[in-house]
Amino acid sequence: MVTFLAGGTGTPKLLWGADDIFGPTETPAVCNTGDDVEMGGHLVCPDIDTTLFSDGGILDRETWWGIEGDSTTTHEEIHTLADEAGVESGPRYLSDEAQTSGRRLARWRRFSGVAEFMQLGDRDRAVHITRTGLLDEGRTLTEVTATLATALGVDRPVLPMSDDPVATIIHTEDGPMHFQEFWVHRRAEPVIERIEFRGANEAAPTEAVLDALDAPVVIGPSNPVTSIGPMIAMDTFRTALESTPVVAVSPFIGDQVFSGPAGKLLTASGYDASTVGVAEAYPFADAFVLDTEDETKLDRPIVRTDTELGSPGDGARVCHAVTEALETIGAEVS
Ligand code: GDP
Repeated sequence: MVTFLAGGTGTPKLLWGADDIFGPTETPAVCNTGDDVEMGGHLVCPDIDTTLFSDGGILDRETWWGIEGDSTTTHEEIHTLADEAGVESGPRYLSDEAQTSGRRLARWRRFSGVAEFMQLGDRDRAVHITRTGLLDEGRTLTEVTATLATALGVDRPVLPMSDDPVATIIHTEDGPMHFQEFWVHRRAEPVIERIEFRGANEAAPTEAVLDALDAPVVIGPSNPVTSIGPMIAMDTFRTALESTPVVAVSPFIGDQVFSGPAGKLLTASGYDASTVGVAEAYPFADAFVLDTEDETKLDRPIVRTDTELGSPGDGARVCHAVTEALETIGAEVS
């Protein structure tokens, strides 16, 4: 078994095409839930869903979120109603009181459904409605995710990092905002003051996650701050990584990021916006997979390959480099 840690882009890209190297049933994906939001009463888990949709063969691979060819009839109607009513669009947080009452898992990231600021497709929304319904019937997010995996024909154990609420809040010059407001609505433009993983001190990884972390771990080319940060903000998660072999794939080539706000977030967290910063953020990583063009020198073993991911062939190539890195550090892959 080898366990992959996943945000919403890098690791799903890495696992696309990896099945012959890392068989899905033996390769759990532990998914970040700090990005989750509750929108109009429905819990949306972007990182879990990208892995589920990718393995289920329905992911929109242009955007790496949502379902390929999905319609947006409901989303458009929601906006028509808001426009006709003259209601202001943009993130509409529920009251402070509502943030911590009701469904516990949705704490600190609860938005009204009015003029929803994230585009949710119709089939995609059916997943959120089903997930939330199952949660409200009393199941844990771990159980609900397993049910959705069955429904979508996914063999991989897809594991939420925790069944407890953890919300990634970006404190900016314009005030605190949930990561999805910062990223989706504000396009990562506000100046960051600090990043908070609200709830992480009281949250714990699930038993399923702790079991999975007994195996060697691969951190795909993820955003170290907002995808892996919420996981390692939980003490027992970080401790588990310290006592198992860990290989990380860089989401940078030197100081060039492939996509997204990882550079800005690393800088705001006191790290270099580069592969060097990724290595600093992962003191528990035993080896790294870097791009052949990446000349970074590190104090830990490096395996180099072309790390650009966008096809099953790319995933297979980089996963071969990952196996080489695991061998280099003597990891036992049972
Ligand atoms: P999320 O989409 O914000 O949840 O982000 P993830 O944590 O899953 O991954 C985002 C990171 O993936 C970014 O920092 C990108 O630099 C990195 N990334 C995206 N595409 C590629 C690629 O083709 N190769 C590599 N090495 N990294 C990539």
